[in-house]
Amino acid sequence: MNADTAIQLRLLDLQAADTALAQLAHRRRTLPELAAIADADRNAEAIHNEVVEAQTAVADIELEQRRLENDVDTVRTRASRDQARLEAGGLPSRELEGLQHEIVSLARRQATLEDELLDVMERAEDAESTLSDATKRHEAVVAERSDLEARRDAAFAEIDAAAGQRSPERDGIAADMPADLLSLYEKARAHGGTGAAMVRQRRCEGCHMELSGSELSAARSADPDVVVRCDNCRAILVRTAESGL
Ligand SMILES: [Zn+2]
Repeated sequence: MNADTAIQLRLLDLQAADTALAQLAHRRRTLPELAAIADADRNAEAIHNEVVEAQTAVADIELEQRRLENDVDTVRTRASRDQARLEAGGLPSRELEGLQHEIVSLARRQATLEDELLDVMERAEDAESTLSDATKRHEAVVAERSDLEARRDAAFAEIDAAAGQRSPERDGIAADMPADLLSLYEKARAHGGTGAAMVRQRRCEGCHMELSGSELSAARSADPDVVVRCDNCRAILVRTAESGL
């Protein structure tokens, strides 16, 4: 394939634009904020589960507390009714004995229930503090995530603006290239990552291998219009005064 030396030189501008665009795309894909956001998501999910668990525990304990409070009320009501009957007097001695016995056992039952109630109230306090701790940690990780998102979006905007400047430049150079040369360039780029490379001091700047033997003599003897390629990386070799040939 033949191409004007000026066109061959333009291949280096095309490669520079493509390299810059590839670097921008790589930076966009590998922004540290992306990994940090994924971490924050995992954290938020785990802490959210803790919050739900703590909410369930608090609700369960509240239910238990209400049940005990109802039981205490029932026992108290019954004891005061018994007490009133006792104070009204005039009961047959057997009934009186039964009533006194019941008052004693109700008092014992009430004491047991009140102990249980105290225990439940203590557990409620613990569960609420666990819930408040998990809720605070969840809020913190959500805030951290939104901070990371803002930083990611700022970086995206910066990268996209740079790419938005480079892309038309790249397209403009490509539009001026002969179709067969452009397609050879694209093929080389797909193969080894470099479409066109300058030869500097006999070295391919694409793969940094030194030209030697038949490759060197071919590059030396080829007419300047002939398109030469690197045996190693397949890049189109652009020869200049700095090529050392
Ligand atoms: Zn090479």
